Amino acid sequence: MPLSHKRGWPMRQLIAASSVILLVACAEKPTAADAQPLPVTPAAPAVTASAPNVDVPDIKPAQTFSEWQAGFREQALNAGINPLVFDNAFIGVTPDMGVIKADRSQPEFSRPVWEYLDGALSPLRVRNGQRLLTQNAELLDRIEQRYGVDRQVLVSVWGMESNFGTFQGNKSVIRSLATLAYEGRRPEFAQSQLLAALKIIQEGDIAPGKMLGSWAGAMGQTQFIPTTYETHAVDFDGDGRRDIWNSSADALASTAHYLQSSGWKQGQPWGFEVKLPGDFDYALADGAVRKSVSEWQQLGVTLPAGSTAPAGAEQLTATLLVPAGYRGPAFLVLDNFRAILRYNNSSSYALAVALLSERFNGGGTIVGEWPKDDLPLSRSERVELQTLLSQRNYDAGNADGIIGANTRKAIRSAQQALGWPADGYPNHKLLESLRNR
Ligand code: CA
Repeated sequence: MPLSHKRGWPMRQLIAASSVILLVACAEKPTAADAQPLPVTPAAPAVTASAPNVDVPDIKPAQTFSEWQAGFREQALNAGINPLVFDNAFIGVTPDMGVIKADRSQPEFSRPVWEYLDGALSPLRVRNGQRLLTQNAELLDRIEQRYGVDRQVLVSVWGMESNFGTFQGNKSVIRSLATLAYEGRRPEFAQSQLLAALKIIQEGDIAPGKMLGSWAGAMGQTQFIPTTYETHAVDFDGDGRRDIWNSSADALASTAHYLQSSGWKQGQPWGFEVKLPGDFDYALADGAVRKSVSEWQQLGVTLPAGSTAPAGAEQLTATLLVPAGYRGPAFLVLDNFRAILRYNNSSSYALAVALLSERFNGGGTIVGEWPKDDLPLSRSERVELQTLLSQRNYDAGNADGIIGANTRKAIRSAQQALGWPADGYPNHKLLESLRNR
């Protein structure tokens, strides 16, 4: 879902998060376009269900919910919402404690990227996607012609976001967003989404009672957040309403519209797996480092035995992605990978979408082996790593458990001082080394 923030991740309006490819562990469900720089944790988005929550901030609103609602009503009316629309949408709305709990959850454990991919690329999902590609062939022809976005990636996003429309979330979007605007961690964002949701209702696309979505307000088969819906949802089946909940045509075309706006290049690959030489400078595996494919080749980047580079790839701009550090698989990723990141700024998510789109055609397998003995650090271990790095004069920024650009840079400096490959990947070996120094 294109959300604008994630991390709570919702799909978002993307404000593009920087050019940096983040390895993000999305705690919440990823959705597209999140506007914010996401928190980054080394592995995949998914979170262990049984993980305890830690350090949950206690947010105590200064107002009652009714007081907040009265103040927000005034703002909404000033923004052009009809009072009848507002009052009808808020009938019976109370804060949803499940939303508050989800918003404050900071899971201790993240799933390793290889486990996340195993779930995302299940044989059942691949088969369902293949079936839907066939069933919707004529519709997908028209969407490709209109938006210039390849059908496989559309069906892949559809599968990742809502399991092809079957898991859209069943919470009231108005109630969830009102709860988050009242006492969530990012009230301003929630309020802007709530205002967009009211506009959608006012425009007649959906009734308030049928506007359902995730706890974070991501809606329908595409899991768009309301502001992304406002900018990118389209009525493709021609019934006069943009219905991303019940119309696959509207949902798939809306996804195509979003990816088109995010720079999708029809017919180009998302990227491809590569092999790196033994003495490779892993500091180059950073989303901010962009080179043409031929420049990467001059640095010793090669293809795995038996594979060939996509035709015409030499002059394309690529960044190097090592999702599990230097011991794991490596990929050169191109513009279309960056377009997928606009949907959800998690490199694990984008890799899953990319590989799933290829699996529909029998490809999408990875040759390199994942370092399965190298489990992701837990949240408290990441905080400890950041604290130790800063104590050693490698400035890791706030010790918040989020591996962002500052922390990655600090990790690289520490790795270089140790004479290790500077992949910026936080692991137990580095943590042990810092503890013992
Ligand atoms: Ca429609």
